[in-house]
Amino acid sequence: MGKWPTPNPSRKRERGRKCDRLPSRLREGSGVGLAALAAFTFLTTPAHADTLIDNVQGQTIGSDGQIERFKAFVYDDAGVIKAVIHEGEKVPKKGITARLDGKGRLLLPGLIDAHVHVMGTGTAALTLDLSETNSLAEALEKIGAYAKAHPDRPWLIGRGWNQERWKLGRFPTAAELDAVVPGQPVWLERVDGHAGWANSAALKAAGVTAASTAPTGGEIIRNADGTPSGVLVDNAADLVGSHVPPPTARDLDATLAQAQRLFFTRGLTAVADMGSSIQDWQAFRRAGDANQLYVRIMAYGDGIDNTLLIGGPGPSPWLYADRLRLNGVKLYMDGALGSRGAWLKAPYSDKPETRGLPRLTQTQLGNLMSRAAMDHYQIAVHAIGDEANSVLLSAMEDLSATYTGDRRWRIEHAQIVDPADWPVMARIARTTGVVASMQPVHQTSDRLMAEARLGPDRLKGAYAWTSLKATGATLAFGSDSPIERPDPWAGLAAAISREDETGQPAGGWQPQERVSRLTALAGYTSAAAYAGFAETHFGRIAPGQRADFIFVDTDPMTATPAQIRATKVLETWVGGGKVWDAAKPEGGAAGAEPAKR
Ligand SMILES: [Zn+2]
Repeated sequence: MGKWPTPNPSRKRERGRKCDRLPSRLREGSGVGLAALAAFTFLTTPAHADTLIDNVQGQTIGSDGQIERFKAFVYDDAGVIKAVIHEGEKVPKKGITARLDGKGRLLLPGLIDAHVHVMGTGTAALTLDLSETNSLAEALEKIGAYAKAHPDRPWLIGRGWNQERWKLGRFPTAAELDAVVPGQPVWLERVDGHAGWANSAALKAAGVTAASTAPTGGEIIRNADGTPSGVLVDNAADLVGSHVPPPTARDLDATLAQAQRLFFTRGLTAVADMGSSIQDWQAFRRAGDANQLYVRIMAYGDGIDNTLLIGGPGPSPWLYADRLRLNGVKLYMDGALGSRGAWLKAPYSDKPETRGLPRLTQTQLGNLMSRAAMDHYQIAVHAIGDEANSVLLSAMEDLSATYTGDRRWRIEHAQIVDPADWPVMARIARTTGVVASMQPVHQTSDRLMAEARLGPDRLKGAYAWTSLKATGATLAFGSDSPIERPDPWAGLAAAISREDETGQPAGGWQPQERVSRLTALAGYTSAAAYAGFAETHFGRIAPGQRADFIFVDTDPMTATPAQIRATKVLETWVGGGKVWDAAKPEGGAAGAEPAKR
């Protein structure tokens, strides 16, 4: 096995700290996971004493926040950058034991996605995806083929179907699924996650019959004779969903490996994981212990219970040579705009009887934030609607009187923030610090839906990247993968244009909120690192930072949005080791060449 080249001198001390505190059943041995991991070997080129990367067109966000260009840099055997060499400066020779010719290619810092769901990303890539199917027949064909390819799976799991897209005019049925998969139980979530479609084997395994009653907030769709037809809505979906066997440690390890591979193909070398469960964290640790954790993960525990279980008395130290840290907690203030779960100040324009719902009372929010803040956990709260953002901002302002210092409280999405609340954000920015963690592609995907939900008068505060940055908030960018693809290039293009991939609307939607190329690049590098308290570890090409970098074929500082979307990532390097090479795309998949020592 390839040995990761960056042993951290303090790793032994770090390691002893937390998981020893966990109940023994949670301290899974790594033996099971290793078998699965062994199948996923990434290309790695270990660092030597001092490595010189020469002959590059390098650019990074500099220490002054401006673009800094360079032609070479040197990193040590721990994968930490020692020197950056600019035009007109001499390339050092002393102590250099390895030289890598960049062949004049463009080099950028490894990109950072400030909001992903790591395991969800891997799962989406490993399970059946029906989101692109255009008819029931096409979906059934895909499901049948998937079943044939996975005859030994106890259950077949998938997601993404949409009977509206299929123009079916009704829900699909269990009988239709039975025709292609009669044996194994099948459970397929609808595109919005608010319904599930089962075959008869799954209904049988779950004990759902004509006599079953739906729980409150759920519905069993029935045939004329009262038998379940196969689709279960909202809370009723748990009747079947709860019978799906939980993933094994081996499954989770394969899922993590798959997610890492996806990130590297798009040039992401670090991510913030927004809602890590204890099982997710254990998978990260198993990978780290096996020297198979390559991507850098800034983890936010899923709610306060997971956070305390993972972190105990506070955030974890950086583990595995800056590859993993528990930063804080992820909380949810409201739902999403599409399902009208986002909590608005005034009724929805396209459904005046509702203005959405909070998922926490103000008292609960204050208590949870306070519980996290007292142990110096960073707080990241999902807030989409303007009322959710308003309530969250006032809770942050209240707490900033007690919990002082550099807190960098994060608002995840900050999708609709009433301009009346911008001054509150500005005040928090000046005291404890505040991060607007936003997803440029949500704006382009949601545009028409947001106009319908909000009406014309509330759009000023929607996806208001430039206005929120102007309050003094740190603007960090991400994808919310697997909701959107983990593709920072689509994000960079959307950020500077507010046009979708077809160029619509020309000139950009609410174009005053477009950001500069510099702000966009910072949003995916230095600012995303700052948003996770990682700015002294990675995010830029600078002395003291980890040597995380990518070779690309397109310059995001000069290319058109369409060209930026089409950017090809040629190579991805983390900590001075190569983890992705477009010339050897099979690297990272099962059967890849073993890593070289
Ligand atoms: Zn999310």
